[in-house]
Amino acid sequence: MPTLVMKFGGTSVANLDRIARAAKRVAVEVANGYDVIVIVSAMSGKTNELVGWVNDTSQFYDAREYDAIVSSGENVTAGLMALRLQEMDIPARSWQGWQVPVMTTSTHSSARIEDIPTENINAKFGEGMKVAVVAGFQGLSPEGRITTLGRGGSDTTAVAFAAAFGAERCDIYTDVDGVYTTDPRIANKARKLDKIAFEEMLELASLGAKVLQTRSVELAMRYKVRLRVLSSFEEPSDSAGTLVCDEEEIMESNVVVSVAYSRDEAKMTLISVADRPGIAAAIFGPLSDAGVNVDMIVQNISEEGRTDMTFSCPTDQVKRAEKAMQAAKDSGEINYHDLVADEGVAKVSVVGIGMRSHTGVAATMFRVLSAEGVNIKVITTSEIKISVLIDRKYMELAVQALHDAFELEKAG
Ligand code: ADP
Ligand code: ASP
Ligand code: MG
Repeated sequence: MPTLVMKFGGTSVANLDRIARAAKRVAVEVANGYDVIVIVSAMSGKTNELVGWVNDTSQFYDAREYDAIVSSGENVTAGLMALRLQEMDIPARSWQGWQVPVMTTSTHSSARIEDIPTENINAKFGEGMKVAVVAGFQGLSPEGRITTLGRGGSDTTAVAFAAAFGAERCDIYTDVDGVYTTDPRIANKARKLDKIAFEEMLELASLGAKVLQTRSVELAMRYKVRLRVLSSFEEPSDSAGTLVCDEEEIMESNVVVSVAYSRDEAKMTLISVADRPGIAAAIFGPLSDAGVNVDMIVQNISEEGRTDMTFSCPTDQVKRAEKAMQAAKDSGEINYHDLVADEGVAKVSVVGIGMRSHTGVAATMFRVLSAEGVNIKVITTSEIKISVLIDRKYMELAVQALHDAFELEKAG
């Protein structure tokens, strides 16, 4: 039997009615002749609530307990989905991550999948089971502890299962009907893309577009998984969603394909550090060891052998970063006058493979932001993206102005 992976995100399993609606979609694919692996997220809001409980209990928590707690939302939806399918006379059962087992690294709260043995589930398909419902987001460490794959990690569970089982396709059902030229929630002119290249999707995901977790796109690219994003709220024939595919499969596209944003960024500046060989390693080594995801880095002009070093990281890692820097200062590895955290910034980025061969995108971006009176605090670029850090209060304005300026509402 051909296999299909169908992943339902939090809003698609937010209550019993939604689970029933999702189960009907699964039934359609079973009737089409597929063995289906369903990956479910927790009900929307559940994981946030669990994370909140952890933070309210312990500031520098034991990440193994964090994972034990925050992974639990998926257990409920997996069981409910299996029950709902059984009520529809479809042979189904649920699996928690450790039962498969989804083997991961022991990097708690952001573990990576290492192996998904297929024997257990395939044996059940062989016995006539039609749907395996798997709790997304969860794994098992070599030490036998529960791990999680990072926020949004059910997307990665889905793609990893599609790769392991050689699925014909991996369909990601969510609350929008595909990948758009920007988040349709903040720009009403956003246009749905029929196709997007893996590399563009990878950049968009890593720059904050929540619609797919970055790691899921990486895996899809590596294992050539046919990945589709579509809505669980529309009737099956209404929309084909967006296909994430090789760039060769896309005939025409704009130079800039999409505008992404990340709201929860912090700009951290170490004031007056010694400008000497090895200083960057002495700063960013401890930050990395502390699990801080540093993104943009700027070393300012040096005066009398001292300089300011600026970097950005997610706002919820500011405390961790401060603690790591204080420890490095106390141990004498680095010396700085002050660490200033600006938690009121956001990152806005434009992405497109066409930027490889077209000049002028950066100039247009800076002109547009300046015309809107938006001050740029930090800039970074790669071959196919330009990102700026700006005051958070201008974020939506900047996204809309850039969407207009690059005429993304029009197909390329
Ligand atoms: P799920 O719970 O189904 O995993 P997410 O909230 O993680 O859903 O991701 C879907 C959301 O991603 C959408 O509701 C939308 O607001 C957001 N999003 C951000 N950028 C984009 C984009 N370019 N295209 C589509 N959705 C986007
Ligand atoms: N429930 C987890 C989260 O909210 C995983 C997911 O939904 O993908 O991050
Ligand atoms: Mg998600």
